[in-house]
Amino acid sequence: MRTVIFQLLAVYAAFTSSERGYFWHLTDLHLDPNYTVTTDPCKVCPSAGDQPVTDAGKWGNYLCDSPLSLINSSIHAMKSILPDPDFILWTGDDTPHVPNEKLSEKAVLDIVELLTTLILQVFPSTKVYAALGNHDFHPKNQLPTENNSIYYGVSNLWGPWLKQESIATFLRGAFYSEQVVNLENVGRIVVLNTNLYYDSNSITASMEDPGGQFVWLENQLSDASQKGEKVYIVGHVPPGYFEKKRGKPWFRENFNKRYIEIIQKHHKVIQGQFFGHHHTDSFRMFYSISGDPVGSMFIAPGVSPWKTTLPGVTNGANNPGIRVFEYNRKNLQILDMVTYYLNLTFANLESPRWEKEYRLTEAFLVPDGSPQSMHKLLDKISTNQCFLQKYYEYNSVSYDLETCGESCKIDHVCAIREVDFTNYDKCVKNGSSASNPRFQMVLVMVMMLICQLME
Ligand SMILES: [Zn+2]
Repeated sequence: MRTVIFQLLAVYAAFTSSERGYFWHLTDLHLDPNYTVTTDPCKVCPSAGDQPVTDAGKWGNYLCDSPLSLINSSIHAMKSILPDPDFILWTGDDTPHVPNEKLSEKAVLDIVELLTTLILQVFPSTKVYAALGNHDFHPKNQLPTENNSIYYGVSNLWGPWLKQESIATFLRGAFYSEQVVNLENVGRIVVLNTNLYYDSNSITASMEDPGGQFVWLENQLSDASQKGEKVYIVGHVPPGYFEKKRGKPWFRENFNKRYIEIIQKHHKVIQGQFFGHHHTDSFRMFYSISGDPVGSMFIAPGVSPWKTTLPGVTNGANNPGIRVFEYNRKNLQILDMVTYYLNLTFANLESPRWEKEYRLTEAFLVPDGSPQSMHKLLDKISTNQCFLQKYYEYNSVSYDLETCGESCKIDHVCAIREVDFTNYDKCVKNGSSASNPRFQMVLVMVMMLICQLME
């Protein structure tokens, strides 16, 4: 009898493990090809702009974009942690933060080629769903809605990954949709070019539906619904606000509104949204009109440690991060998420060591990565200083370990909860007028002491 039970358990374990799939999310590599380890603080990296870089290490510097050694190390770390993922999501921004004059169409394509070749060499048989970032064009941010030499050049470079049927829409607007590799009729990946909605893109500013992408997206989602498929939406620039700078959105307002409406309308087929651009680790919630959590967006940390020069952001650097998602192969539900990181300071002092930073379900005590669970997580962050602090430290990939006080909490909680511009403004206003700042500061300090005692 006992043997039969063990055999049944073994069969069950084998069955459930075959349902559990794994994929990587890689973003914001930002190669600085001119990164140099030198004692001359003005000659380390063009991506630092005018800032002197005094301690250039072999694996990079927080003021600079990634040296090739760092990117190489990150891709090889992926290979040693999870060598055979179901697929890889790669959400763009390959080139350095430098003025347009320092780049060219050829320089952008050369960098995309170099990184594509590296990923192909390390993961020769893995399907990659790649998206363009706002930095993967020349001039930067100005991604158009018609054929051009960069879309054409990238479509050739990504030839080993793109299906033939994806080429037409890619050449037109750098977006495409494909069934998930080996999961035909179960899942679909819709790669968007949300750089078309970016408020720094002047080409698309007056368009109602740049490239017809919104109408196309709705068709993809309706088709998926009819076929019984589930969908992941993948892109670079996310809707909503930057959690590290109050009142800083990326999309133009009309595009932001339309995006939310589409998610609300088609939420039943969308099992996850995966974006980059922030370099930070955060997430966004989508709710139905009646307030139920119906979708979540995962914003993955970048490999580049580059400290943002966006005015008003303090401590805006990060440690390099890479991320594994665990999902149900039968319905694409997100089961868990594990983030790995490189402590850049330690790497430069000793040796590069990629290690687990945290596992979603362990760190935040939620059952999985569903919208209901992410809503619970948001609730924990907004009501418990210990969870808020934990989230805050992971937000910069364990770079910024300062205390997240009341104002910081408002920035993060409102950005996560309210993707809509009007609701975000209301959230910030309500939060700011809630109580006495001095009392709040004392309360935060007491709570932090309790968190430390509980560790
Ligand atoms: Zn970007």
